[in-house]
Amino acid sequence: MNDNDIPDGTQHPDSRLTADSSESVGLSGFHGDINELYGHEQAYRHLHTLLTDLGERKLYDAAAQCNRCGYCETSCPTYMLTGRETISARGRNQFLRMLVEGQAKDAGAAAEAFSTCLLCGACSSACYAKVPTPDIVLEGRRALQGYGDNFFARAAINTLLNAPAVFGFWLKLAYLAKKTGLPKLAAKMGLYDFLGMPGLVEAEGAVKHVPLHFAAEILRRDPDLEPGTKHAVNWAYFAPCGPNYLFTEVALATVRVLKKYSGEGIFAENLCCGLMAHNYGRIEDAREFARRNIVRYEDLKARFGDFPLIADCSSCAAFMKAYEQLFTADPEWRPRAKAFAAAVRDILEFIPPEKAGSADPAALEKAGRVTYHDSCRACHGQGIRREPREVLRALAGKNYRELPESDWCCGGAGAFAFTQPEISKKVLERKLRNIASVQADTVVVGATSCLAQINSGLREAYPSARAVHYSVFIDAVTGKNGQ
Ligand code: SF4
Ligand code: SF4
Repeated sequence: MNDNDIPDGTQHPDSRLTADSSESVGLSGFHGDINELYGHEQAYRHLHTLLTDLGERKLYDAAAQCNRCGYCETSCPTYMLTGRETISARGRNQFLRMLVEGQAKDAGAAAEAFSTCLLCGACSSACYAKVPTPDIVLEGRRALQGYGDNFFARAAINTLLNAPAVFGFWLKLAYLAKKTGLPKLAAKMGLYDFLGMPGLVEAEGAVKHVPLHFAAEILRRDPDLEPGTKHAVNWAYFAPCGPNYLFTEVALATVRVLKKYSGEGIFAENLCCGLMAHNYGRIEDAREFARRNIVRYEDLKARFGDFPLIADCSSCAAFMKAYEQLFTADPEWRPRAKAFAAAVRDILEFIPPEKAGSADPAALEKAGRVTYHDSCRACHGQGIRREPREVLRALAGKNYRELPESDWCCGGAGAFAFTQPEISKKVLERKLRNIASVQADTVVVGATSCLAQINSGLREAYPSARAVHYSVFIDAVTGKNGQ
């Protein structure tokens, strides 16, 4: 593939995507049919159609909406950092089209183009046609042989789906090993492999503290959240895996903030939203996570009527808002998924700025100069930009500074920091430079992957600053002297 041109199939030396470290990958096969990147026997691994801004489209037609104008090029972090056309949005869309048409012969180059995408969606925000490049890239990944077939990842997703308590038990063992200074032993024992989270050894290294009580366990014991004799509720809290299993303080802060601003609510007792399964090639599992969460929501709705389902990780909120896309070929589940999606709210958009109230001056002084990083799945995935800024400006006043290139990805992108460490580091460095340029002390974020990634960068490069989740910030500054 020629980096200075549209993809042409030339081999890159570093272009092998390893879905399973023991397997190299190729493409599962191309077919003459212009809409067939994969055989019918592989259809279960893929989305039936994509729901784009221009309507429902088959994969090829969605990619063909890219007219190669290049307007998005300067928004794409991987292109801006490398100058390589093949790892730009235009290059990736063109690659997908050529693969479907049988014109691209180099599976390794395709794997590189797809595996290096951050799925940030900055290209789609910049694009007049709103070409859904992240979804197109994921479909390309799903056609790579071995993608989603890693035994440990399969086992972990299956355990999370069917025996979340067992998953939690293994996770606690891994955390205990970290707390006792034995993370390498845990790795050797295969705990991280069992958990199946790509790069978890490195991931937990990026997180300073790990909880031994998960948020769901704590919330279940909160008498205020008991459905009990309640007849109506103003909200239900959906605990995404990040806040539930790793950043417990985020989940607890969100619930306190919800109680403070919106009164009576409940804990949804949800499962994982399915995003991990969706992004790592297990789309049937993602559908099953979605079905079970939809059924849970419907049960609650039958009891309490309409209520918003609040999530505090923008990646999960954006994914759940797109549940319908998982079921476009399923007449029974499609409308149910659509109704569920309509109830989902990101905590970032839930608090009305006019109700933000006032901040505790001491807490605000402690926070110092405050800025806001747009998590990709908040701004590009859900179009949320204005609401959190207005709330933060209302609370922080003159302490608030706008972050240059605030919607430039931080490089976290789920497990991207661990699967593509070099690109991730370069993307992060630009974010850190921008944070330093406004001399921020507190960087407010809305996704747990950004929280881990930005904090791991700040600890090394700019230790006087720290990233905090939106809920944690609001909870802290609207404490006893605030609203
Ligand atoms: S993705 Fe959109 S903005 Fe980018 S090259 Fe294609 S049509 Fe142009
Ligand atoms: S999703 Fe992000 S990294 Fe991927 S092509 Fe679009 S802008 Fe580039």
